[in-house]
Amino acid sequence: KQKAPEKWVRSTCGYCGVGCGLYIGVKDGKPTYTKGDPAHPVNMGTLCPKGLSEHEMVQSSNRYTKPMIRKNGQLVESTWDEAFKTTSDKFKEIQAKHGNGAVSVVSTGQLLTEEFYTLGKFVQLGLKTNNYDGNTTLCMASAVMGYKQTFGSDGPVGCYEDFSYADTIMLIGANIADNHPILKLHIAKNKKITGKKPKIIVIDPRFSKTAKMADIFVPIKPRSDLALMNGLCHIILEQGWENEKFINERTTGYKEFRKHIMANYSPAEVAITTGIEVKELYELARVYAKSPAAMSAWTMGVNQSSLGTDTVSAICNLALITGNLGRKGATALSITGQCNAMGTRETGFTSSIPGYRNFASSYDREEYATIVNVPVEDVPQKRGYSYPQIIDAIEAGEIKALWLVATNPLVSFPDQKKLRRALNKLELLVVQDAFKSETAFKADVVFSASTWSEKEGTYTNSERRCNRAKKAVEPLGQTKSDFDIVLEFSKYFEGVNERLYPNWEKPIDAFNEWKKVSEGRLCDYTGMTYELIEELGGIQWPCNTANPKGTPRLYSEDMPCPTPDGKAKLLALDWLPMSEPQNSSFPLILNTGRTVEQWHTRTKTKTISILNDLAPEAWIEINPQDALKLEVKSGDRLDISSIRGKIKDIIVRESQNVREGNIFVPFHYNEQLINTITKAEFDPKSFEPNYKQCAVQLHSI
Ligand code: SF4
Repeated sequence: KQKAPEKWVRSTCGYCGVGCGLYIGVKDGKPTYTKGDPAHPVNMGTLCPKGLSEHEMVQSSNRYTKPMIRKNGQLVESTWDEAFKTTSDKFKEIQAKHGNGAVSVVSTGQLLTEEFYTLGKFVQLGLKTNNYDGNTTLCMASAVMGYKQTFGSDGPVGCYEDFSYADTIMLIGANIADNHPILKLHIAKNKKITGKKPKIIVIDPRFSKTAKMADIFVPIKPRSDLALMNGLCHIILEQGWENEKFINERTTGYKEFRKHIMANYSPAEVAITTGIEVKELYELARVYAKSPAAMSAWTMGVNQSSLGTDTVSAICNLALITGNLGRKGATALSITGQCNAMGTRETGFTSSIPGYRNFASSYDREEYATIVNVPVEDVPQKRGYSYPQIIDAIEAGEIKALWLVATNPLVSFPDQKKLRRALNKLELLVVQDAFKSETAFKADVVFSASTWSEKEGTYTNSERRCNRAKKAVEPLGQTKSDFDIVLEFSKYFEGVNERLYPNWEKPIDAFNEWKKVSEGRLCDYTGMTYELIEELGGIQWPCNTANPKGTPRLYSEDMPCPTPDGKAKLLALDWLPMSEPQNSSFPLILNTGRTVEQWHTRTKTKTISILNDLAPEAWIEINPQDALKLEVKSGDRLDISSIRGKIKDIIVRESQNVREGNIFVPFHYNEQLINTITKAEFDPKSFEPNYKQCAVQLHSI
């Protein structure tokens, strides 16, 4: 009774890309409860453990309450004016001496769309550096590039409703039970809607919690997913199970694709590459191809690979040759990680000009410049460095300052030794974050941000649904919203605020400009208003006069792809073996991932006791056969090493969930920092890290 909220504010969860609707309970000016919104179409009243305890994060002891500046080696509290002046003076000095690109920025999928749009404009048109990227490059850049090369644009083609209509659901490298648990509700609705249970196929080297619901579990060898997709396409074409009409009318590149697949991906060869028997490959291909509606969905197991982009397109190839696109239950859906990874994709200014415009296109540059009333010469003609390239350029001495926004590379970036070497060379490290992250502890300046429930705007989820995130309480201490930080910081650069943000005061000003920028683009938001978004429980873009209530699926029969001929491309793609296989010194392959109780680098979850008690530390999941060979058992503690370093003292869990010769360790924990030993290897098209496979050894302590 004592804790009963005085009011409830309708909002959206700020953790993952599922985008659940919720209510924030407020008492004495603090969030005291979180409960699911029964009217929200994504979660229908339910929340996962993180969503249910989200209010606790806001009052966490791990929050900054004031800006900070390093003085005599110590971070001490400062005023906003001192923090902004120190940073702007140093940025100007570095840019005058070394050029605009010597200042770099890495942002995040944690910001609201309005904040991300405002920040991107400031970085590209105010600071005039295009060395700007997001931490989203660490999680879904491969999905972006894969969609682009297949369909001509980024944009998840399906929606959650497809889980409820598909006859076959193929989950590839996607442990949704841990990472997107609410999506299971949409699968659970399937039988009620279709009258029969869908066939669930789970493709994963690890028997994850998600695999427990599979009708067919496919325990592929690590990194063989692209070969598997090509092998399934081979069987479908060989057996004549393809959808000829769809291929002829809706795709290009079929002749070359078919020749490549038939010549290079025979079932016998694919069986060796994937570890899946030939007859099982035929059965898989038959189940998928013969389903009236089949969907595939994937997350980090696919994206976080140096073959990530091409694996995404290989999944799309399979969908295209069987005609599984743009119909209820027939799709190829990328599931995003962070709450607003999608908003950052559309509003861009990292890998594209806002509204999925191309840096290289003079038409696109001109159009954007005209809409926002800036000289076209100010709009960059090419993408600057990606996140990993920024780190390389810092190490090479080319970039001198780094401004990180709500991201924590000192836990999340691969090959920590190399990263730390680079960061030590910086003349200025600025961290803008609500939480005392490991990276913030190393900063020269901290812009202390407010967080979820303390600010206003929108998040767009994995199915392109734009949801409202509302302010329920005042920002903690002297923290400011990321929107206010950028707007106020921009005033320290002569003429920038007036030029970029004329009369802007609130996030709605950014939203209104973003709507204009999105007009006529695939990600059209022009039909949306804050009121309508709230009324409908979110709206899926494109939303405009033609689709006033949004669009559940892209590329249905009457919607061409944004390619020159309106068709999707079938691409001839190749699998490659992993670059660091097992060897006598490092005989095991490490797979990293997540658990439902923790969020990323735990900045948000480490002080929430109910989550931390359930998952207090990292663990090594090891196959019992390997445990026997090493003479270890569950509860023992071991060290792990790779050629790049060693991590000490991690508890062992014997489990049949991992294949013999493989181990799994979650990446969340700074105390057992697994990214000390992961490899700095990146997808050449998306720049996404290959987190999932590297050769390691276990040692007794
Ligand atoms: Fe939040 Fe994701 Fe959990 Fe939904 S599934 S409550 S969006 S963390």
